[in-house]
Amino acid sequence: MSHTHTHDGWPQPYRLLDAQPYWEGLAAGQLKFQRCTACNQVVWPAHSFCPHCNADADKLEWQAASGRGSLYSYSTVLRGPTPAFASIAPYTVGFVEMDEGYYFFAQIEGAPETMKVGSRVEARMIQRGEQNLPVFVLA
Ligand SMILES: [Zn+2]
Repeated sequence: MSHTHTHDGWPQPYRLLDAQPYWEGLAAGQLKFQRCTACNQVVWPAHSFCPHCNADADKLEWQAASGRGSLYSYSTVLRGPTPAFASIAPYTVGFVEMDEGYYFFAQIEGAPETMKVGSRVEARMIQRGEQNLPVFVLA
């Protein structure tokens, strides 16, 4: 893992093996998550076993998320930590409570004064460096 691996100034994610289908989904424009077929619980972030019932990896199934959810919490960053982030500041990040029942951390696009906890949001893909990443916009 390297913190200095960047592309056009954007830090590029470290791709944990368990989450490889997630990254492949993003490349195809899809937001994916794991569900355990043994206990039917959503598993997020990606695991190699079910944290709810201890089922093995072969019980974890990747499914496409709707991309929709509600804003759970958010914060606006006024000064970016690196030149790339400074170039988009101010920007908002937060947790989205996905309709499938898991919490997803991402950038939330739009004017912060138009957002509130509980606002309906939906994902769209943007390109950061070599990587497609989901950001959320007000629905
Ligand atoms: Zn399970």
